[in-house]
Amino acid sequence: METCLFCQSYKYLPSAIGGLVYEDDLVYAHHYCRDEGPSYLGYLLLKTKRHVPGFEDLDEAEAQAVGLAVTRLSHALKVCTGAVKVYLEAYGEVNPHLHLHLIARYPGTPEEYWRWKVGRWPEAPCGNASEVAALCDQLRARLGTNTSSNLVSK
Ligand SMILES: [Zn+2]
Repeated sequence: METCLFCQSYKYLPSAIGGLVYEDDLVYAHHYCRDEGPSYLGYLLLKTKRHVPGFEDLDEAEAQAVGLAVTRLSHALKVCTGAVKVYLEAYGEVNPHLHLHLIARYPGTPEEYWRWKVGRWPEAPCGNASEVAALCDQLRARLGTNTSSNLVSK
């Protein structure tokens, strides 16, 4: 899809902040970064490589890849951030290309910031570009992948 932002942006991700954290033949994940200011640490976006609007449009192999990636990434997020919970959100309304938000909830997060408001907690761990990149390195090490450098060398 030529007009889809996510279809277009995939090729630039290896040079984006933190690079690719996870990749297989069908899906990939990277850390979410705000355009300005520090970013919430432990916020990943998992996307399909093929332009797929919703879960109902996945083929079986993609569905398996998404499920496996969610499990692996959630585990790595918990270990690397110390999160007590990893939230999973999917809307696909602003960008209608299947993508899942995986967001760490840290110990001590007040209950009024749980679930969809977790990113609004003013005391949540946030980081600049180098801190995001350091977390991505930890996640890749935990996942046993070297995605970023593999892609850059292609
Ligand atoms: Zn797309």
